[in-house]
Amino acid sequence: MQITFLGTGTSSGVPVVGCDCSTCCSEDPRDRRWRPSVYLELADATRVLVDTSPDLREQALAFGITGVDTILFTHHHADHVMGLDDVRAFNHRQHGSIPCLGDASTLAALRRVFAYVWDPSVPKGGGVPRLHLLEVKGAFSLGCSRVVPVPIYHGQQPILGYRIDAFAYLTDCSAIPESSWLLLDGVEVLVLDALRHRPHPTHFTLTEAIEVAARVGARQTFFTHMCHDLPHAETCAALPAGVSLAYDGLVIDV
Ligand SMILES: [Zn+2]
Ligand SMILES: [Zn+2]
Ligand SMILES: [Zn+2]
Repeated sequence: MQITFLGTGTSSGVPVVGCDCSTCCSEDPRDRRWRPSVYLELADATRVLVDTSPDLREQALAFGITGVDTILFTHHHADHVMGLDDVRAFNHRQHGSIPCLGDASTLAALRRVFAYVWDPSVPKGGGVPRLHLLEVKGAFSLGCSRVVPVPIYHGQQPILGYRIDAFAYLTDCSAIPESSWLLLDGVEVLVLDALRHRPHPTHFTLTEAIEVAARVGARQTFFTHMCHDLPHAETCAALPAGVSLAYDGLVIDV
């Protein structure tokens, strides 16, 4: 399986509009972070997009994404869904509808936020993405891979992370319920939310993410959803072995 990080920033992206801090002014391309998303090419070549960030169009152009077979949604927050309209480009290329999978509350939010997609009075054509919503109720197969939804907490809100074979993607996480730790047993490559140093009600801090990484014990752990408080090079230099910040465009093989 190949994983491409399409975006590794928090909801504002980095640089933050109007900010002149050292991270936002950095010349290091790894300090430019689009909104969070990953793209997976599974062992049997099935192409999976996890979340549709508001930067999806630029991400697809920058990283050569030309097709998507399935979209997995972690939750409905704007930084994870607002690029959904841009999947029209894939509809055109693939001549078909794209399945969108998420929990019931995420699908309900998609129906509300993108009401025009399902409004019978809207003329069909190039202006409307073709999607079908499928509720995730448990583990399922995608191509020849096994996908296990991993319930996590984003503040008070239960949302989904996903484990796909030996890879797990847990973004927007502030707590992992006891029953979900078992689902992470044997994960080799882990992606985890790490927003900043200061505590936040709905995201792990860097220190909390390091503790979770140690408990899961994956061969490699990558942090994502970082804000401008975490400059890439300086932050990575202080991380334990096997743990690093992801950056936009990073490609890894699992
Ligand atoms: Zn800044
Ligand atoms: Zn969120
Ligand atoms: Zn988010």
